Order: sequence, then structure tokens, then C-alpha cells
Amino acid sequence: MNVLVINCGSSSLKYQLINTDTEEVLAKGLCERIGIDGGMHTYQPKGADKIKTNVDIPDHTKAVSLVIGALTDPEGGVIKSLSEIDAVGHRIVHGGEKFSKSVRIDDEVMKAIEEVSDLAPLHNPANLTGVRSCKELMPDVPMVAVFDTAFHQTMPPKAYLYGIPYEYYKKYKVRRYGFHGTSHEYVANRTAQFLGKDIKDMKIIVCHLGNGASISAVKNGKCVDTSMGMTPLEGLIMGTRSGDLDPAILEYIAGKENLSISEMLTVLNKKSGVLGLSDGVSSDFRDLAEAAGLGNAQATTALETYAYHVAKYIGSYVAAMNGVDAITFTAGVGENNISAREEICSYLTYLGTQVDPEKNNVRGEETIISKDGSKVTILVIPTDEEMSIARQTAVLCR
Ligand code: ADP
Repeated sequence: MNVLVINCGSSSLKYQLINTDTEEVLAKGLCERIGIDGGMHTYQPKGADKIKTNVDIPDHTKAVSLVIGALTDPEGGVIKSLSEIDAVGHRIVHGGEKFSKSVRIDDEVMKAIEEVSDLAPLHNPANLTGVRSCKELMPDVPMVAVFDTAFHQTMPPKAYLYGIPYEYYKKYKVRRYGFHGTSHEYVANRTAQFLGKDIKDMKIIVCHLGNGASISAVKNGKCVDTSMGMTPLEGLIMGTRSGDLDPAILEYIAGKENLSISEMLTVLNKKSGVLGLSDGVSSDFRDLAEAAGLGNAQATTALETYAYHVAKYIGSYVAAMNGVDAITFTAGVGENNISAREEICSYLTYLGTQVDPEKNNVRGEETIISKDGSKVTILVIPTDEEMSIARQTAVLCR
């Protein structure tokens, strides 16, 4: 079955066409600057170079038509016609409490996604625009919604409730939802498979460390806690997001700098994290490592603070599960940043585990990085959210 995986943002649309029988990625691409001048479409068929085209993309429907055009192009295309797309899998950021698993999209599902949109006002409306554009151009192709929040719906109330008046949960559904669920689920399952164990017998901590970052505690295959909250702003220090902080800081800085709440949220989402902590060096961990290597003390502080916070979260999830069998690193930093992994794990020797420097000298491959005989196994497992979306879509559309 050929599944088109769509990840639609407000001004971008990422896609992959995956044959779910062979798990081959037939082609992938990205439409950028949708609705903004200077649109660009990047398309890459399997085994070939990227083709970049400058083309105005006034709306998402135009973006989807470019995708279909490229996939069916007689020269660079990978399928003969639209009829070879058997299903479309859409990444939807927020499923609220309504969705604890992926679903086939119908009118009722569209309405339900719309209803939870005020929990993710930047993401859900853009995701829905992608669905509508696909429906317009591929009315007969079945579509599936795969939610970032779904995997975390198994959290118990003690993990998802905040210490604020309960009426805000009852009235407005203010609670922890968590994000990156597709990645956490995929990586937790791969961890168990890789170790030849049944996930139902395991306690796993997944560290998804990318530009956005979150950690989850997965006990017997179910998520019992995760670090992102009602929005992706909570939890770890990220590339540009602050993560946890004393909420009173908002009013204090807003008063000093004469900023509104929404301007403060922009500071916390876009100007904080390691970018802010490093005094503006970069949100990218490669730049930070380079600056630190050249003696930039603030870059060093940013990297140390980042690793310290990840280690603290790991410790709290060991407590949440009363133990841990495996700790897995994934996403850009988790898969590639050897020194970040080493530094984070330097806090974990109390668990009876240690990183093996030689085994840790890897990037982007499934492997164990802890020393032989460690009580807790530390691993690297590259995430693959698109493949996971394609698989789930195929199961629901067979
Ligand atoms: P997202 O999907 O959240 O945008 P990614 O998972 O792609 O983010 O992760 C991006 C981060 O991964 C960047 O901070 C980048 O510096 C880091 N990263 C990618 N490759 C490497 C590498 N080889 N060494 C160190 N860090 C890396």
C-alpha cells in the first residue's frame, strides 16, 4: 500500500510517499513559504538528488497539487497516477482528550479536531487546512489522523493534573497532554524489540531530544508521564523554548520590559532555551559545541544547564516508575550529539549504568551505548515519525 504522509504547518507542508509493504520511502519533499512571497518546493525521489523549484504557493491546495504533480511527473515521478496513492496519513498535533489513538478521518473527526483547536491554535488549524486540501484534490482517498498527543492519553490523573483549581480542568480541560507521542511510541517499541524483550515487561525512558524536546516514562508499553504539558512549552530546556519555569517570572519580566502576555510567550517559545541561555549564540547544538570549544563560557553554561535538566527529568521518571530497564536517546540531538549523551549519562551512575565511550561514538544508528553488564541499558534509536504514521494509516485503511 502506498501511503502519502503529510505534516502540514501554517506556511509549510512536509511529505513522504511510503510503500508500507516494503517500508520503502519512494519520495519525499517540502513546500515552504506557503502564502508568503518566495515559495519553494523541494522534491526528492528515492535514490536521486533533490530537485528545488522556486514557485509561488498561495495556499495549501496549491502545495498539495505540487506534491501530486511531482509524484506523478513522467520524468521524476515515482507513481503513474493519483490512483496509486492508497491512503493519506496526516500528522495532527493536538487530539485533546478525544483521541487516544489514530482514526480514519470523517466529518465527525474533522469537527472534533476543530473543537480542540484552541488548545493548539498555531498547529491544529494548519493541520486541518492540509486535510481539507488533500480532500479537495483526492476526494476518494481514505485519510487518517495520527495525533502527537494520543500515546500520552494513558497517563493517570496524578501525572496529567496540575496543582491549580480543579475547575479549570473541568471547565477548560487544562491538563498535561504531552507531544511527540508518535516518536515516543515508536522508539519505546523499537527499544523493546531491539533488546528482544516484551515491552509489557519493561520500564523505558525515552528522551526525544530535537529542537523541541520531551521525555516520557513508558511502563509496560503505556505512557505514564511525559515532560511537555498542555502545550509544548513545558518540560526540558529546548532549542528556543524555555521549558519549566516559575510562572511568576512572566509577570515580573513583563512588568520590567513592558511586554504583554502574548509577547512574553513569544520570548519563552522563540527566544529562550539554549538560544537564550547562551546569550544568543545559537539554538543549534552543533554551533553551541563549536562556540564552547572556542572558549565561549555562556555556550558552555547553556550546554551544561541543558544536560542537567535532562538528567533531572530522567531521575524523576525513575521515581515515577519505581525503576527503569532502558533509557533511549532519539531525535537530532539524542541521535547525533555524542557529548550531550555522555554528559547527561554522567549523572546516572547511581542507577548502575555507565556510557561506554567507544560504543557511544555513533550517530544515527540503533545501538546500545552503555557498558556491558550495566543494570540499566542505555540506547540510541533513531526515530521515524513518518514511517510510524504510514504504518498506522495502512492498518486503518486496509
Ligand atoms: P526538530 O525535528 O525538533 O526540528 P531535530 O530532531 O531535527 O529537530 O533536531 C535538531 C537538533 O539536532 C539541532 O539542534 C542540531 O544541532 C542537532 N543535531 C543534528 N545533527 C547533529 C550532529 N551531528 N551533532 C550534534 N547535534 C546535531
